[in-house]
Amino acid sequence: MNAIAASFPAPASQPEWAVELRGLTKTYAATGRSAAKQALKGIDLNIRRGSFFGLLGPNGAGKSTMINILAGLVIKTAGQACIWGYDIDERPRQSRAAIGVVPQELILDPFFTPRELLDLQAGLYGVPRAERRTDELLEAVGLSDKANAYARALSGGMRRRLMVAKALVHTPPVLVLDEPTAGVDIELRQSLWAYVRELNRGGTTILLTTHYLEEAQELCDMIAIINNGMVAACEPTPKLLGRMDRKELWLTLDRDLTVMPPRLSMYQTELPEPRRLVVRYQPSRDNINEVLAAVQDSGLVITDLSTKETDLEDIFLQLVQAQRS
Ligand code: ADP
Ligand code: MG
Repeated sequence: MNAIAASFPAPASQPEWAVELRGLTKTYAATGRSAAKQALKGIDLNIRRGSFFGLLGPNGAGKSTMINILAGLVIKTAGQACIWGYDIDERPRQSRAAIGVVPQELILDPFFTPRELLDLQAGLYGVPRAERRTDELLEAVGLSDKANAYARALSGGMRRRLMVAKALVHTPPVLVLDEPTAGVDIELRQSLWAYVRELNRGGTTILLTTHYLEEAQELCDMIAIINNGMVAACEPTPKLLGRMDRKELWLTLDRDLTVMPPRLSMYQTELPEPRRLVVRYQPSRDNINEVLAAVQDSGLVITDLSTKETDLEDIFLQLVQAQRS
């Protein structure tokens, strides 16, 4: 896929922040079957113009709710949202024009062809015929040869690419992708990422939601972690990954331990049971052999051992606990 040079407004009109959220709150009303649900609990978030921003969080965290508010598909309960400096309540036309959203759910009218669909979308956004880039976009997402096929005849991967093209018809400076690779094969994933990266290099701000840490890690320069409707962290990717530099060594000892040996004071230790010793260390700094040597030098006899890496779930927990305390 080849990226298309975008024609954004002159630099003078370019805001510092592509997206600004203040106290964004959403409560879904109770229905006959379910209780009311507070999906967003006062989100404050700034997304810098030009960044490749990852919104990472487990299922149900509130990612799609946030995206859908920006897309105008969900009405917020409280708070403020600005896209490209335009408040979505006060300047709805301008804010809508500044963003293209590829929603998580693939919604396509099966009786339109890709070409018709893109033309229709361009019409909706008031893009004059002379400025339409239908063929260029179809080419960019590798659908030129399917331009006149009915959408219902397209594979899942092709539909996803068509949705990306659809989000780009009005050349928005901000592109939002909500879990675009869920259920998508590796090859498409690679070409989709290559394309989105190129768009980003050309100046488009990208907001990507995912629950795959690796995906965010590889692509994004900034990552916000959202959990349970709250932002638990928002940091440059290298800093966030630094938090993952933790491993746990779980040891079973041959007898009860009453006093923690001083030799182990350089590590963070814990005794969940009298014969279970947990030593936390940083793989980038501490060699596991040194950790084990320190245990043995302390006269402890190990009868069993295992290691555990810090995963995203642990980080969520750590961050959320820190947030509460
Ligand atoms: P994510 O995209 O991070 O998986 P969502 O924003 O889809 O999270 O959902 C956040 C929470 O809001 C979940 O508990 C979900 O069940 C609930 N939710 C999402 N959409 C609706 C809806 N239309 N009505 C009621 N509850 C909803
Ligand atoms: Mg979602």
